[in-house]
Amino acid sequence: MTSYRVQQLLHEGKAKRVFATDRDDLVAVEFKDDATAFNAQKKAQLQGKGALNCRISALIFEYLSAAGVPTHYLGVDGTNWMLVRPVQIVPIEVVVRNVAAGSLCRQLPIAAGTALQPPLLDLYYKDDALGDPLLTEARLQRLALLSPQQLKALEQLAFQINDELRTLFERCRLQLVDFKVELGFTATGELVLADEISPDTCRLWDRGQSDPKGRILDKDRFRQDLGGVIEAYGEVLKRVQGQCPKPRVYG
Ligand code: UDP
Repeated sequence: MTSYRVQQLLHEGKAKRVFATDRDDLVAVEFKDDATAFNAQKKAQLQGKGALNCRISALIFEYLSAAGVPTHYLGVDGTNWMLVRPVQIVPIEVVVRNVAAGSLCRQLPIAAGTALQPPLLDLYYKDDALGDPLLTEARLQRLALLSPQQLKALEQLAFQINDELRTLFERCRLQLVDFKVELGFTATGELVLADEISPDTCRLWDRGQSDPKGRILDKDRFRQDLGGVIEAYGEVLKRVQGQCPKPRVYG
C-alpha cells in the first residue's frame, strides 16, 4: 500500500475528474456517474456507472500491462478512484474499428456490421468545441502534434491494444466492434496508454445474442435510449473479471 493525499483538481472531463496528489509520480482519477453523448448534447446521471467503469478499466489495464502494453495505470482506491502516472495527453482520439458502426457508417457508404479486415484506424483531433474533427495525414503534419516516428509508435500501440483487447473480449464472449483510446507521454518521454477502456469507450456485442439491439453491451444503449445501461455494464464487468488479474489496491 502507498499513502498519498488528493490535492487540487487538474482537469474535469465529461466522465472523470483528474486531481494532483502530494506525490509527483501520482495522479488520482475519479470516475463520475455522468453520462454524455453526442458531444454532451444528451446528458444523464447513471448511478453506479463511475464505479463500474473504474473497475472495468482497472481490470483491462491490469490485463494489458501483463501483456506488455505500457499504460499510465498504477492501481485503484475504493470504488471510483484510479491512481495513474502523470502523462501529457496527446490531443488525438485514436479509434480502431474491427466492424463498421457509428460515425463510419454515417460518413461513408459502408453498411453497419461490415467486418473490417485489416482493422481501420481513425484519428480525430480532440477538441469538443470543434466537434473532434477527423484528421488527415496532411492535417496531422500541419498541426505538428507528433513527429513521424511518434505517429508510427502511436499507430503500432493502437493496433497492439486492439489485438490484445480482441483476445480478451473473445474469451468473455464479447465482440469488440470498435474503441477509442487516448495516449500520453510520461515524464521520460515514453508513449503509454492513458484515460480509460470501458463500455463508454468501446462498442461491445454479446456473442451469445443475435438480436441487433439485445446484443449491445455498451454506451450505444444510452445513445439509442435502449435502457438497461447499468445492467449491460455490469454484465461486461462480470465477464472481464473472470479473465483479468485483480486490480492492485492503493491507499
Ligand atoms: N468514442 C469515444 N469517445 C468519443 C468518440 C468515440 O469513446 O468522443 C468511441 C465510441 O464509443 C466507439 C468508437 O469510439 O466505441 C468509435 O466511435 P464513432 O467514431 O463511431 O462515433 P460515435 O458513433 O460514437 O459518434
